[in-house]
Amino acid sequence: LTGVQIRYNFMAECIFCKIVAGEIPAAKIYETNSVLVFLDIHPVSKGHALVVPKEHFDDMISATDEIVKDVFTTGKKVMLAMKEALDADYVAVSVVGIDVSHFHIHLIPRYYEDNLENFWPQGKYEEWEIEKYADKIKDLLKQI
Ligand SMILES: [Zn+2]
Repeated sequence: LTGVQIRYNFMAECIFCKIVAGEIPAAKIYETNSVLVFLDIHPVSKGHALVVPKEHFDDMISATDEIVKDVFTTGKKVMLAMKEALDADYVAVSVVGIDVSHFHIHLIPRYYEDNLENFWPQGKYEEWEIEKYADKIKDLLKQI
């Protein structure tokens, strides 16, 4: 198989592309010309939604700036509705990056008393180590 064929076959199996195409049912809640929002069938909390571009991009890095903007501005709008409709205290936004290989963000309604983890396990830096990590990323950003 050529790279193009592998990519095509992969996309043909992409569960989010199938949802966008209507080949797999989903609880759709909002859409624009470029973005679709539907509920995750394995919710972290009830109402947990996914915002996906209708066009396939493997991840956030490969998506265009315009698509990233559309996904996040649509996410903001849905987040407002979610907070009101579900009486959530706040809505967590997450880009996991390793679950489904079709760029998406998670919108998770949260409640102060929901007893879920607030974030992932947290570590700490050795003395001066934080500057080293900041410099590594800053140096690379100068090349982009
Ligand atoms: Zn896809």
